[in-house]
Amino acid sequence: MSEERSLNFLEEIIEEDIKNAKHGGRVLTRFPPEPNGYLHIGHAKSICLNFTLAQKYGGLTNLRFDDTNPVTEETEYVESIKKDIEWLGFKWAQELYTSDYFDQLYDFAVALIKKGLAYVDDSTAEEIAAGKGTPTEPGKASVYRERTVAENLQLFEEMKAGEYPDGAKVLRAKIDLASPNMHLRDPLMYRIKHAHHHRTGDKWCIYPMYDFAHGQSDAIEKITHSICTLEFIPHRPLYDWFIEQLEIFSTKQYEFARLNINYAVMSKRKLLQLVNEKYVNGWDDPRMFTISGLRRRGYTPASIRNFCDRIGVAKRENLIEMSLLEFCIREDLNKTAWRRMAVLDPVKLIITNYPDGQEELLHGENNPEVEGGEGSRSIPFSKELWIEREDFMEEAPKKFFRLAPGLMVRLKHAYIIQCNDFVKDASGKVTEIHCTYIPESKSGNDTSGINVKGTIHWVSVPHAKTAEIRLYDRLFRVEDPSSEEGDFKDYINPDSLQIIQNAYIEPDLETAKAGKGYQFIRKGYFTLDPDTTNQHLVFNRTVTLKDNWAKKAD
Ligand code: ATP
Ligand code: MG
Repeated sequence: MSEERSLNFLEEIIEEDIKNAKHGGRVLTRFPPEPNGYLHIGHAKSICLNFTLAQKYGGLTNLRFDDTNPVTEETEYVESIKKDIEWLGFKWAQELYTSDYFDQLYDFAVALIKKGLAYVDDSTAEEIAAGKGTPTEPGKASVYRERTVAENLQLFEEMKAGEYPDGAKVLRAKIDLASPNMHLRDPLMYRIKHAHHHRTGDKWCIYPMYDFAHGQSDAIEKITHSICTLEFIPHRPLYDWFIEQLEIFSTKQYEFARLNINYAVMSKRKLLQLVNEKYVNGWDDPRMFTISGLRRRGYTPASIRNFCDRIGVAKRENLIEMSLLEFCIREDLNKTAWRRMAVLDPVKLIITNYPDGQEELLHGENNPEVEGGEGSRSIPFSKELWIEREDFMEEAPKKFFRLAPGLMVRLKHAYIIQCNDFVKDASGKVTEIHCTYIPESKSGNDTSGINVKGTIHWVSVPHAKTAEIRLYDRLFRVEDPSSEEGDFKDYINPDSLQIIQNAYIEPDLETAKAGKGYQFIRKGYFTLDPDTTNQHLVFNRTVTLKDNWAKKAD
């Protein structure tokens, strides 16, 4: 955003650090995704924050895949994450993997064992959990806590060598079993997991825990400001403890509130369920708040960056309105989308005084929001047109400024017409509307002197192309599905996708470009879906022209 705003708390910290020449005034942040799913809009918040903070202070940002859990991680996710960050418009300084540090981390662990600050524990997971006590009661030392350094060194090496099955032993930090902070009650550092890793293959059968890997990776990379979300506040003393005991680069962790959006879920675990259980058509389903879903829906990188900037950096959890995200995409597409006409629910209109067989090529600017309109396209016009069924009423109330017997409207980019009569089929459905046009009222050269209040869109019947159009509603019926009773999937909106098989579109839309936004006049912003083939165009509605949530909410 261009307008001035006060510094957020992270900017204040960084400016203070620069003033004190901490790290020589250097700024290096990192974005550390675990490659166990596709990125969502919450990650976009973290990406924008890390990259823009560094950019603002002349620093850099690393992309570090936090790949310490071999079971859930896949290369497909790594690729999608890179694609999404690039698409958002950011360039990382280095592409790194926590798994690149496995040797180094092992050495760190050995160093702690040698200092008498880590031990191998043979207790079961249940015994360890019980031994940790409760927040109000101190924990109890495991019988293995006083093993000698030599014994611990040997056992840890044997763990690494694959001599024990999963779960048989763990390496724990020896800190304080009575600490009021549960994370300091001898936390796990390493666990045995005989699993194939997407990068290190079968080299390792012990893997570091998040708390032992994350801070040490930050230190190895000499990250100056390690930014994460609020749930890591209680981990911070442990983060600092490892760094202090290992006497490595002193990086600092700072926490901000996760982004939550209403009517959505924002955790990869839940998104994975939606995908696996086929509630949606993949990670990039346009109803998903994944970056790939938003891209497919027609969101632009600028709109997402703008959204992340507007919501700011909070220190307390909150729920952001989905309508703010929609506001940001409308604002962007209003400036950039090309205007086109499409009729989603067609009824035929015949201009009885327009010569049979005559055709005209009319012109419409691509983008009236900019000077010069970014050029224009030709729009064929003829005697028979498709118009929107809702633009006609047999008996119109006052203030209905569209078509009804006797009423006049302007056809966008064309003429003023007057409705004379209409035809219905046996079921009472209107099948044809008969109008006359006023030849002197042509747009751009109107000498008719007639003023009409309404303008409607249309597509010429003989020239119309067809398209499939997908309209989306929110995926959940309730504001915060994760906090409702029962399973979050019980709150899925069954009508979140409406498919219009045969909409009529103006012929120029056959050349629509993937990734470009189009405003279908009066109908919203649309973009081409990747399901499109040469024979079959498919458009997604990105967003309606106006906010209609407010109305729906009551
Ligand atoms: P999820 O629970 O969705 O899987 P995560 O935190 O486990 O999220 P990571 O891949 O570990 O996902 O996250 C990478 C970075 O993105 C972390 O620094 C994390 O704090 C941040 N992040 C994740 N979700 C959000 C969110 N909703 N808002 C802001 N930042 C987030
Ligand atoms: Mg995580």
